[in-house]
Amino acid sequence: MNYHQYYPIDVVNGLGTRCTLFVSGCVHQCRGCYNQSTWSLDSGHPFTQALEDQIIHDLNDTRIPRRGLSLSGGDPLHPQNVASVLKLVKRVKSECPGKDIWLWTGYLLAELSAEQRELVDLIDVLIDGKFEKELADPSLHWRGSSNQVIHHFKL
Ligand code: SF4
Repeated sequence: MNYHQYYPIDVVNGLGTRCTLFVSGCVHQCRGCYNQSTWSLDSGHPFTQALEDQIIHDLNDTRIPRRGLSLSGGDPLHPQNVASVLKLVKRVKSECPGKDIWLWTGYLLAELSAEQRELVDLIDVLIDGKFEKELADPSLHWRGSSNQVIHHFKL
């Protein structure tokens, strides 16, 4: 898997102070996408074991308490990203007790494959659906257009 950005401190993408990872790769081609440079799986930089370890370390850093991890992109549920994101999510669940996980995807919850669903079953909040330019609303929290749904599984 490749990624575009990692923010060790982020207060925009989800509740509270968070770590946020923007992965590479998205098939949805939403008109008006704010992040077209992430569409190619080959764009960005390799997501290394060192960065995975850094994210776990940052989430457990008590000097700047983080509420949790946000996963965006690109699309963390791109079929070719699922294995790497699932590995990271499993580590957060086992090594970062009390931290929540939010994930943004262009897929719909009802359409997820078994592999995608296995990953989504471990997270706390899913924001699903493509960005629809006609339904864009800058007053919305954590979603770009009103068709997108915030699914609170555990919060
Ligand atoms: S799902 Fe997100 S990253 Fe992918 S094309 Fe749509 S707005 Fe862009």
